[in-house]
Amino acid sequence: MGPFGARCEKAAVAWRGGRDILPGHLLPGGDACPDAMPGSPMMPTSRFVLRLLMVLCAACAVGAASYRQFLASECAQLAEASATRLDFYRTTLVQTLEEFRLLPEVLGLDRRVNELLSAPHDSALRDAVNRYLESVSHDAAIHAVFLVDADGLTLASSNWQDRLSFVGHNYGFRPYFQSAMQGRPGRFYGVGVTTQEAGFFLSAPVRRDGRVVGVMVVKIRLDALEDAWRRSGELLLVSDRLGVVLLASSPGWKFRSLLPISDPARARLAHTRQYLHADLRPLVASDGAPLLKADGSGRQVRLAPDAQPFVQGRAQVRDYLTQSQLVSPYEWRLLIMSDLAEARAAALTRALTVTLAVLLVLSAAVLWRMRRRRAQERSAARQALERSQADLEARIAERTEALVAANRSLEGKVLALKDAEQILTRTRDSAVQAGKLAVLGQMSAGITHEINQPLAALTTLADNAGRLIELGRDEEACENLHTIRDLAQRMGRIVAQLKTFARRGEASPEPVAVAASVSNVLRLLATRGLRPEIVVRVEHREPSLAAQADPIRFEQVLLNLVMNAADAMEKQPSGELLILSESRDGQAVVTLRDNGPGIPEVVLPHLFEPFFTTKPAGKGLGLGLVISRMIIESLDGRLDAGNNEGRGAWFRVSLPLAVGLANHD
Ligand code: ADP
Repeated sequence: MGPFGARCEKAAVAWRGGRDILPGHLLPGGDACPDAMPGSPMMPTSRFVLRLLMVLCAACAVGAASYRQFLASECAQLAEASATRLDFYRTTLVQTLEEFRLLPEVLGLDRRVNELLSAPHDSALRDAVNRYLESVSHDAAIHAVFLVDADGLTLASSNWQDRLSFVGHNYGFRPYFQSAMQGRPGRFYGVGVTTQEAGFFLSAPVRRDGRVVGVMVVKIRLDALEDAWRRSGELLLVSDRLGVVLLASSPGWKFRSLLPISDPARARLAHTRQYLHADLRPLVASDGAPLLKADGSGRQVRLAPDAQPFVQGRAQVRDYLTQSQLVSPYEWRLLIMSDLAEARAAALTRALTVTLAVLLVLSAAVLWRMRRRRAQERSAARQALERSQADLEARIAERTEALVAANRSLEGKVLALKDAEQILTRTRDSAVQAGKLAVLGQMSAGITHEINQPLAALTTLADNAGRLIELGRDEEACENLHTIRDLAQRMGRIVAQLKTFARRGEASPEPVAVAASVSNVLRLLATRGLRPEIVVRVEHREPSLAAQADPIRFEQVLLNLVMNAADAMEKQPSGELLILSESRDGQAVVTLRDNGPGIPEVVLPHLFEPFFTTKPAGKGLGLGLVISRMIIESLDGRLDAGNNEGRGAWFRVSLPLAVGLANHD
């Protein structure tokens, strides 16, 4: 990528950096990320938490409703199952009670029984009936079988030999006696007044000639039934018409009352001594409500602390579903209590399952919704990005066009500059040439003067020489010819100098070893007969110093300067010339110092003017320094002059340092 491409990329990044699409920031085109719109009342996190709470609440509500439903269903199932069991227990109870239903009546048919009722004091007969009754009471369920006369006095009993024999006791107050005396079979549950053992009494009238003369009673034990209930783990109880519990799987419930007992009922109980001394404490729910509704239908109850059943010796605080059935024809009610814990646990398990399922479904729905929303946001962001990119590309194209135009304009300017440079170079060359021409113009006056005079003299001398030869004055003619020769030589020198000056040839600078050029000049000088009194000292501070110059012209300048110095010290008995070369400020500098008379103040301003000379006529032309300066300047150098502080003059040639290796020849 070129610099222009890099610049565009940089601009694009900078531009994009300013419009980065981040959640919650306005997108190009005014779109905004919906989740975190500036000024939005709710941040995404709190919205997520709110949704979560809503999901939880909904799941909990569904869970609670389903729990109620499931509990109702479980309770219904439990009630159904309990009703079946209740039916079974009722049947077994009735079977147990009715098993000996006919026994009193059958026993009453016995002749001895009838005879005893006629002769109650007949001890032999009483003994016979006692033994007879004893013999029929061997069944474990039968507690006792006894015969009561019309006054309620027991004449004979199966337990006649026991300490607590019924014989001699009067049971005329017992309902079973009374109903039998009225000719109806009697059924009665109560606590024995003699043995204080509870039992079920079955009675039947004993008739003679159609008249009731006595009552035969069979007392049945129901302990085995209660034991069976207890062993089965069922919670069962049987209450009588008044609500007093006769039988119960839990001993603590026995002789307690399910219903409030009215005073007349209490008085009657006291009279019949049905429950003997039992206080008939209420057996109710923990909130004081009865265990059954008024119509006998069941309900869910928690038993009062003193009514908790003992299961395996420990009281259980549980909630129960109570159900009951009437046990006809006794006007009893069989009640079963079913533990609700299992039903509740099952309902809870099912409700939890439903809650979890709802939670899962709702969470999935929320997540799906959030994902969809995120996808929509991403799509919106992508569209916004695409719009940005399109915008960016348009801008880049716009800027590229502008840059291309600017580039083109720059190229045009560069071309114009190159043209200008060329024009400048040409102008400078022309100016240099023009400068030379100006100098030439200046010189032409001098040349005119310098050449016209000898020409005029030559003409005159030549005429004179001819006349002198005609006159035979050869010697004088010869002198004239010498003068003509001198003048011609002078003119030749001028022309030679001018030839150098006028040559416009392009200097072709090359690396020139300064030390070599100086030694070449000194060698040349020796051939020209330098006075031995004049000492030339050479000092090269950098022996390898090289200047970028034209070697011939450079040496020509040096020779001219050395010659001038020698001329200046001509009248001195001795002289000294120091040639010092050094590198200074990126230039090769050669300084020539002599200890001659120096340059007079009046001469200094005219030193580099053409044909200015202080030398006697014929000795100097006044062109050396002018031409030397022209040469040095054409090589991009400088030629300066001045006076030493002590004595003599100095001339300094400065040239560019050589590029590359110098030629040392
Ligand atoms: P010319 O040598 O023909 O006189 P130049 O241009 O070489 O012409 O010198 C001009 C004049 O500069 C000389 O006439 C002289 O007066 C003066 N000049 C040159 N070199 C020196 C020098 N080393 N010391 C004193 N004067 C000098």
